[in-house]
Amino acid sequence: MKCTKCDKKAVYAGQGQNYCKSHFLEYFESKVTKTISRNNLLEKGDKVCVATSGGKDSLAVLYMTNLYCKKYDIECFALAIDEGIAGYRDHTLDDLRIFCEKYDVKLHVVSFKDKFGDTLDNIKDKAITERNKKPCTVCGIFRRTLLNRSARELGATKLVTGHNLDDEAQSFMMNTLLGNMSHNASLGPITGLSNNDKFVARVKPLYFMLEKETRLFALLKGFKVEFTECPNINMSFRAVIRDEINAIENKMPGAKNGIVNSFLEILPLLKEHYREKKQKRTFNYCKKCNDACSGEVCNSCKLEEELSLVKNVN
Ligand code: SF4
Ligand SMILES: [Zn+2]
Ligand SMILES: [Zn+2]
Repeated sequence: MKCTKCDKKAVYAGQGQNYCKSHFLEYFESKVTKTISRNNLLEKGDKVCVATSGGKDSLAVLYMTNLYCKKYDIECFALAIDEGIAGYRDHTLDDLRIFCEKYDVKLHVVSFKDKFGDTLDNIKDKAITERNKKPCTVCGIFRRTLLNRSARELGATKLVTGHNLDDEAQSFMMNTLLGNMSHNASLGPITGLSNNDKFVARVKPLYFMLEKETRLFALLKGFKVEFTECPNINMSFRAVIRDEINAIENKMPGAKNGIVNSFLEILPLLKEHYREKKQKRTFNYCKKCNDACSGEVCNSCKLEEELSLVKNVN
């Protein structure tokens, strides 16, 4: 199979396009750059915090964001959350440290242990047996809180995440199947509905890139990446949806793009509908941590209480 653009051997077959290594890298970088500029994800004067874990998506997004920020003279740094997942996160964080040194990116690491008093490995059994909560539920709530809080404390104006097209298709399908349509209104290349100074806007430069493209990009760029998965992934609802969507994509190439493009058509209507509803509600501030939330106590503080975690004061 030959590259559509030159005579070299193709390393990638997309929808109607085959690319050799150099044309694939050109395609990937140009599509991500266009996603950033056309959606105004990053702008002059921003202080950009890239949420990263050392996995392939996060190294790809860190590489691309760093490249873009250097070109347009925008401040950029990396932030990693160490959930405390032995045999997995410790390895990806090692890869990340090497990467940040190589590409001259300042890295901040914050851990569940320091901020919530214990590692996910130690919390998860109690969460499953006593609270009927899956590890990914605990991990998701704590990580989301910590990313936002740490990015805000570090002065970030944008929080870049490595979510790709597969992630977005999965999130949309998960929210839809669970009947959480209002959560879909917060998806899109720029996340969120609220202009609250407690929330750092989340942006997704890899929004239109498939998982397999991101994986290939990381491989062809020679990033040292562990292609292992978190040991808890198979306990998640996301894994079920991911496998179903992958099966559909195999039978019907382009289905993932179809899901996300259809979603983007209705996104403005969803945003308008739920923004109006949200504006009628006043924001509360969590009694415990002072983050913005809809009730008296935010989800993260509620969870800490449920799991009887003793927070370190720092
Ligand atoms: S798979 Fe679940 S537990 Fe593992 S890092 Fe992702 S959200 Fe956390
Ligand atoms: Zn080529
Ligand atoms: Zn709180």
